[in-house]
Amino acid sequence: MRKRTPDHRLLLGPGPSNVHPRVLNAMTRPLYGHLDPDFLAILENVQSQLRGLFNTDNRMTLPLSATGSAGMEAYLGNLLEPGDAVVIGVAGIFGERMCEVASRVGADVTAVRAEPGTILDDAEMAATIQQVRPRVVAFVHAETSTGVCQPVAGIAAAAREVGALVVLDCVTSLGGLPVQLDDWGIDAAYSATQKCLSCPPGLSPISFSDRALARARSRSTRAHSWYLDINLLAGYFGGERVYHHTAPISAIFALSEGLVLIADEGMEARVERHAESAAALIEGLASFGLTPLVAAEHRLPMLTAVVLPERLRGPEEAKLRLRLLQGYGIEVGGGLGSLAGQIWRIGLMGENARITNVEALLCALRRELA
Ligand code: PLP
Repeated sequence: MRKRTPDHRLLLGPGPSNVHPRVLNAMTRPLYGHLDPDFLAILENVQSQLRGLFNTDNRMTLPLSATGSAGMEAYLGNLLEPGDAVVIGVAGIFGERMCEVASRVGADVTAVRAEPGTILDDAEMAATIQQVRPRVVAFVHAETSTGVCQPVAGIAAAAREVGALVVLDCVTSLGGLPVQLDDWGIDAAYSATQKCLSCPPGLSPISFSDRALARARSRSTRAHSWYLDINLLAGYFGGERVYHHTAPISAIFALSEGLVLIADEGMEARVERHAESAAALIEGLASFGLTPLVAAEHRLPMLTAVVLPERLRGPEEAKLRLRLLQGYGIEVGGGLGSLAGQIWRIGLMGENARITNVEALLCALRRELA
């Protein structure tokens, strides 16, 4: 008879991460209507706290009612029209996904690629941007498929020089690393609630600058998606609060509580906690022969990609991950695409970025690899 997998899961993969009990509790609150003034006050507060996390004055900062991929679709779908040129920095699977989404919109996509585990080259991005003179430049801040942290300001400045709008994927970085939309010159950014915000999946915090809104307003064709059309979403999430779709009330209660936890801790302490946990993880994993894929200066703190030793590659790594899950309730992520079977992706995101969780994983590995 197979041993029963523990009910409790320690989610140390690329997301979702574990959720604080106060956040789970918030989801059990009795429902309000989405036009109830008391709910709208909570929503207003959530929007204001999201502005703080994104470090932006953008009025149109809101929790989109869908996962991070919808945030990606919202930007590319609102800012691009068929035939528009877009330059996309691809340092992994999520940059690749941006290319797919933009090409479905009918845009003319030029991709600049980086080797897996490395950052995009600023000079190559700038040269391509100068040559293509695109309407939009898009790239990923925290590439969850490789564990790379992309420096933002250089690429954003090159895009601005040719008048392009800059779109940044902050799905994995928001709440774990400083995000400075206004200082960096970002026009549109999206995130997701299930990573460093430590809330359940289902919402995508997004922020549109006035420049991006003006572009969406002056399109010559209608945005391909009615649900994600920012001009329509602005009716509810802007000042007027008129019905567009039914807001996911319980998910917004949860996000509201998650944002209070972040505010109470403070971003500085939170960033430090993520960095300390990642350092302890890397140090502990070295004894099993697992080494970081990414050079120290470009590593993400919340997602560490480690190269597996030869004996654990291929089918062995999937078996070991299953033993961790079924024996200890610990989830870690495997590699994607060309890195499948070669690396693990270990997340210490939001609430989970704690030394005790690092020790739990190391203890389980010690027992399994003894
Ligand atoms: N972008 C990045 C960098 C991600 O890590 C993910 C999800 O892991 C996404 C986009 C897509 O988000 P979601 O799975 O919430 O739709």
